[in-house]
Amino acid sequence: MDNYDVVIVGAGPAGSTTAYYAAKKQLNVLIIEKRKEIGHPVQCGEFLPAIDELKYIMPRVKDLDSLFSIEDKMISKQTRAIRILSPKKKQYEIEFNGFSVERREFDKYLVNKATQIGAELKTDTKFIRIENGNVITSKGDFSAKVIVGGDGYLSGVAKSVGLQGPTKLSPCVLCEIPGDFEPVVEMHFGNIAPGGYAWIIPKEGSANVGLGVQGTGDISLKSLLQKFLKSKKLDAEPRFWSGGQVPISGPIPQTVKDNVVIVGDAAGHVMATNGGGIPIAIACGRIAGNVIGDHINSGTSLTNYETEWRNGLGKELNAALKTKKMADLFFKKDWSLEKAMAIMGPERMNRAVNCKPIFTNRNK
Ligand SMILES: Cc1cc2nc3c(=O)[nH]c(=O)nc-3n(C[C@H](O)[C@H](O)[C@H](O)COP(=O)(O)OP(=O)(O)OC[C@H]3O[C@@H](n4cnc5c(N)ncnc54)[C@H](O)[C@@H]3O)c2cc1C
Repeated sequence: MDNYDVVIVGAGPAGSTTAYYAAKKQLNVLIIEKRKEIGHPVQCGEFLPAIDELKYIMPRVKDLDSLFSIEDKMISKQTRAIRILSPKKKQYEIEFNGFSVERREFDKYLVNKATQIGAELKTDTKFIRIENGNVITSKGDFSAKVIVGGDGYLSGVAKSVGLQGPTKLSPCVLCEIPGDFEPVVEMHFGNIAPGGYAWIIPKEGSANVGLGVQGTGDISLKSLLQKFLKSKKLDAEPRFWSGGQVPISGPIPQTVKDNVVIVGDAAGHVMATNGGGIPIAIACGRIAGNVIGDHINSGTSLTNYETEWRNGLGKELNAALKTKKMADLFFKKDWSLEKAMAIMGPERMNRAVNCKPIFTNRNK
């Protein structure tokens, strides 16, 4: 059996970032990924906040410049604002710099950073279970001092050691529509996306258009999205259709057990208000990689991971969850949502987008 310091399950942003920082600490790292091609199929809106926005969203996370020093070639299109539309199409525009990426390339870029400094990657390799402390996969068994679950919201790694995963998911559908779009992200609320929202995220020569919902029973998500596309007169043939699930129940109660560490969607590390998870996955992946490095090199506790991500991001993730729970009360009917959005106004919407408590200014 091959032995590693760390075996990381999942080559998404969380797993690859953990691998990069663990490899930087000179650890012997293996990443296993069930997909044949990293980043494909794309199950994402592909939007990221610009660095200055991230500094406002996560003010206690240090050295964001180096963490998010993303090469220009990764940027598909810069955006300057988020336009929020109510059920009656009242518009609230928030200045917000961001950019879209080609997620298919972005995930490869992140995992390549880790392999370039020594991490080993095995694709087409499925995690099956942890048995007697070893990682059992479709391509053989591996032993590791530390095992990382970066395997998304259904995390088999978390289940394997009895850790609770995310309890609430928002199903999503998306497609890519060719065309030229103004550099503004649109979020449409109301019965077009019950309990969630529909988005238009501009890319170079196209837009990622999709929607996420809560509890729609039998309604087909694809037909909802087709209705939305029609309402926006987006009649070009989509380049692809895809879907996925976003964990919206906030961080799981425990992210470290024995020698197992859980990162990213598997840990519920997603902004519950908008489903954005890439920046959180990357920020927590760095913490995980560094803590694992110190644990193996110097014997410090793995539970420092739990302490550090809660110190750095717990407040923001909990504020987003609180806002989401409050919003859910109004989501049930378009008229109550319309009214709630009017009461909130752009200022409080801005706070919600930035994971700040919406009824206080103390955090500004
Ligand atoms: C429709 C949709 C739109 C979204 N839009 C945005 C957005 O615009 N911006 C944003 O910031 N976030 C967005 N998100 C959220 C974002 O995609 C996730 O938060 C982010 O990908 C989390 O990264 P991760 O590494 O934790 O998980 P993932 O990216 O899901 O990576 C997990 C990896 O683990 C692998 N894996 C799973 N099980 C196994 C196994 N048994 N064995 C081996 N490998 C396994 C998977 O194949 C995958 O590659 C969106 C999510 C969805 C579903």
